[in-house]
Amino acid sequence: MAKFTLVIHGGAGTIRKKNMTPELENAYLQGLNDALAAGFALLEKGGAALDAVRAAVVSLENNILFNAGKGSVFAKDGTQEMDASIMDGKTLMAGAVCAVRNIRNPVELAHAIMTKSPHIMLNGQGAYDFAKLHGIKTEPDEYFFSQLRYDQWKKLQGTNEAALDHDVVIKENKFGTVGAVACDSYGNIAAATSTGGLTNKQFGRIGDSPIIGAGTYANNKTCAISCTGYGEPFIRAVTAYDVSCLMEYKGMSLKKAMQFVVHDKLLKIDGEGGMIGVNAKGNAAMMFNSEGMYRGMKSNNGENEISIYK
Ligand code: ASP
Repeated sequence: MAKFTLVIHGGAGTIRKKNMTPELENAYLQGLNDALAAGFALLEKGGAALDAVRAAVVSLENNILFNAGKGSVFAKDGTQEMDASIMDGKTLMAGAVCAVRNIRNPVELAHAIMTKSPHIMLNGQGAYDFAKLHGIKTEPDEYFFSQLRYDQWKKLQGTNEAALDHDVVIKENKFGTVGAVACDSYGNIAAATSTGGLTNKQFGRIGDSPIIGAGTYANNKTCAISCTGYGEPFIRAVTAYDVSCLMEYKGMSLKKAMQFVVHDKLLKIDGEGGMIGVNAKGNAAMMFNSEGMYRGMKSNNGENEISIYK
């Protein structure tokens, strides 16, 4: 039987064991486990990679611990604005949303844009109106609230540090963006990413997560990639597409291409973070240059891993 694989991440960054309680660590591991189970169950039934990444990301968006959907970080003005994207490696179709509020599952909205509109990316109020038109679930502000994210924001709110020096924001907060990539039993691959972005972001700042080619990319010929980390360098490096290009034009393996991008190209431009990837043979990799990355993978070959630290 052909190999099928699901890989997920729940964000990369300064994640240290000494800052973690056993309870919190368990809750994160459980959240990753639930997301893997949700997506993998579909692959086991012969489901499509596209549906598996949606299911895994929805599970992480619904989990308050991760910075996506419920539990998204706060922007400078106290709102929670979310970005997400999805791409189908078989058709090269893609959908994305940025700066949306009150959407329960931004990845579902990205998928609806991909399948029900001639567009790729919608933002803000327009995206919200499209969601309403297509029956995408919305929630009141309170649904998205998390005390942890609120306290993180309060520490930075009113300081100019966050605005002027992104490093301050980054060092004080671990990331929590979520993503998934999958290869199904037909050899089709897909990728999805969803995030609340950076704490205390302002001026409508958008990161790499909703940008096809930067935070997310999928092409059956090469790979499916979902990134996490400090979005600005990831955009400048056209990160996810770069891995695909190294495979397509230089003949690199998935692992070699990811290794080069994460540990060489990104580091040279202060691109802290990581990515998950899979190819159409179901071979996968998880790589990061930060202290940790919430991550997990499962395949029908018996691979089964969930980890947080290096
Ligand atoms: N890449 C996301 C952004 O810059 C953040 C993250 O991955 O945690 O918006």
